[in-house]
Amino acid sequence: MDEFEIIENIFNQNEIDRDDVILGIGDDAAIVQIPPHLQLTLSIDTLVEGIHFPKDAPADKIGYRVLAVNLSDLAAMGALPCYATLALTLPQNNQQWLRDFAKGFFGLLKHYKMQLIGGNLSHGPLNISCQVHGTIVPGAALTRHGAKASDLIYVTGTLGDAGLALKCLKNDVTLTENLREKIFEKYYCPVPRIEVGLMLRGLANACIDISDGLVADLGHILERSHKGAVIVINQLPMSAPLTQTLKFEQSVGMALHAGDDYELCFTIPCNKEAEMLKKMQELNVPVTCIGKITDSNYMEISDAEGHSLKTSKTGYRHFG
Ligand code: ADP
Ligand code: MG
Repeated sequence: MDEFEIIENIFNQNEIDRDDVILGIGDDAAIVQIPPHLQLTLSIDTLVEGIHFPKDAPADKIGYRVLAVNLSDLAAMGALPCYATLALTLPQNNQQWLRDFAKGFFGLLKHYKMQLIGGNLSHGPLNISCQVHGTIVPGAALTRHGAKASDLIYVTGTLGDAGLALKCLKNDVTLTENLREKIFEKYYCPVPRIEVGLMLRGLANACIDISDGLVADLGHILERSHKGAVIVINQLPMSAPLTQTLKFEQSVGMALHAGDDYELCFTIPCNKEAEMLKKMQELNVPVTCIGKITDSNYMEISDAEGHSLKTSKTGYRHFG
């Protein structure tokens, strides 16, 4: 297959044919029609082999992941995903690889009724960029700058699992086959919390997705909101595979600092907590309160008794 046959046979296979896509793949650029009462929000991410995923990672997982990490950004904004564009730089024309990649990519795309509306294909070291486009109700976006003192800090899911998978890939730890599978699934196939983001509109004051680690990403909220925080380590949600594999201190270190989990971290006023918890239950998404926003200008990590273990102004310090 030449370049155009690849585009036609592999990438122009949208099962979803959206009414708001006026012109999709095939022209010099795509045209979409945004409803007049909505705004467009965009995000792009690049995955580079050997940096963002291991060499020889399964192609379907890469296809899934490049879209998932982008969708995680839309989730953190409270946006509804609509379209995507995809730029692929490939070292060789490997049809099986392309088909596997497309399987992972289109599987997730379809789940969100999104349409691939264009892209680019070129030859070179493996490098994949995906841009996603979503709509947002004016004024309703979840941002990093809205956290208020005494807001509760919540996170979805568990933290540190993707970090454990990376440790395992580097042969720093050994996992049983069963745990390995679970942990690798979380690393390769993070679930973008789109439904959570949409539900949090009007409830959360600030939100971010955790791609670089809790402390670093919550640090962005604090910086943008000009606030501080107290995080209680005993409240951090950690999975059984993590706590069974590492010592408590190490697990906490992973939960605080390891990246790639793509869970959401949000802050919410106390009077909206009950409504949020009810809705999370309806969505069947586990959430955990891990601390509070304060009027200080630092992040404090404390134990269950309230003893301060570490404080940091910048929001990035290693624990333990
Ligand atoms: P141009 O040279 O004008 O940029 P191309 O020849 O690169 O256009 O691409 C032709 C069409 O195929 C365009 O509509 C482009 O968006 C689409 N396309 C190219 N690569 C991809 C891809 N990997 N996925 C989806 N669409 C693609
Ligand atoms: Mg052109």
